[in-house]
Amino acid sequence: MKYRPFGKIGDSVSSLGFGAMNLPGVPLEQARETLNYALDHGITYIDTAAAYRNSEEIIGECISHRRNEYFLATKTNKRDYATAKEEIDRSLTRMKTDVIDLLQIHYVNYVHEFKAAMEEDGAYRAALEAKEAGKVRHIGITGHRPELLAMWIQKDQFDQVLFHLNLAQPFALNELIPEMVRRNMARVAMKPLSGGFIRPVDKAIRYPYSQDVHVIISGMVSVEEVKQNIAAMEREVEEAERRELENMAQKLGEHNCRRCNYCSCPLGIPIPDVMISSVVRQELGLLAKGDGFYEKHKDKITACADYEPCKETPLCQKVCPYHLPMQSVIQAAAASY
Ligand code: SF4
Ligand code: SF4
Repeated sequence: MKYRPFGKIGDSVSSLGFGAMNLPGVPLEQARETLNYALDHGITYIDTAAAYRNSEEIIGECISHRRNEYFLATKTNKRDYATAKEEIDRSLTRMKTDVIDLLQIHYVNYVHEFKAAMEEDGAYRAALEAKEAGKVRHIGITGHRPELLAMWIQKDQFDQVLFHLNLAQPFALNELIPEMVRRNMARVAMKPLSGGFIRPVDKAIRYPYSQDVHVIISGMVSVEEVKQNIAAMEREVEEAERRELENMAQKLGEHNCRRCNYCSCPLGIPIPDVMISSVVRQELGLLAKGDGFYEKHKDKITACADYEPCKETPLCQKVCPYHLPMQSVIQAAAASY
């Protein structure tokens, strides 16, 4: 396991971070074993969020007795001062700790939401006050619009950003990562498998590892998964492999979807999942979870072609800030059944 100073935050953190989002879906004893195994094997960064069901409580229950062994990052998706303040205090209680190392303003994708969080009575003030009170050490932000995040960090109000970076979503490399490097900000990449789609797993993990980020958050729910993640990061990425991975990412990211989630479909088609997995599915095939996704949503995906209200103008495409041709991607996916 590699350890690096975490940008301007300075703490030494492990390159692999434990993503605790899915722990609420497994038995508590499995979560306990997995978290403790991760700490025993060198992972020192734990990432969760108030919004991840009872993930914070699981962390409090399973590893709070080892609190000095990990850097603890959580998030609030509240935008106003009062509810964010309440939620920060709740996170402390749930995780059985006196201090959160990193509190991130969670899932900021729209300009109006950013403005609301940064206003006088916004969530950012609650985070600042918690910092002044010693309850929070650093403040960060997370989101799915890399070019907006690159603008929002201009006033140096944040020490860290959490963003997507994987073989099918290399977009943070354009503006966001270079801007963060210039500002010596802590850089955390999430979803190396894009939620269970991208294979092979070792390449998927090694791609963000080959880039200038401090921590790669990978969601893990079993000892086996922790072992697999650690193994993928055992060797450094040499130049030739880095170029190979970058070429793959250029190809697999051709769909251009940032997963901003602005779009929605009246038929309930999870458009970003189809978009992001589209080229991977065609070029490399998907992980079992990805195949399961296509099986589960087959009826909806195949119904897109006959959906009358979208015949003239696809409803989803009207709102995409990147003007992407989602209808044709969905219909191409349907054709492969
Ligand atoms: S074009 Fe297809 S995916 Fe888009 S909103 Fe219409 S039915 Fe849904
Ligand atoms: S298709 Fe467009 S609107 Fe939908 S998530 Fe992707 S980038 Fe956002």
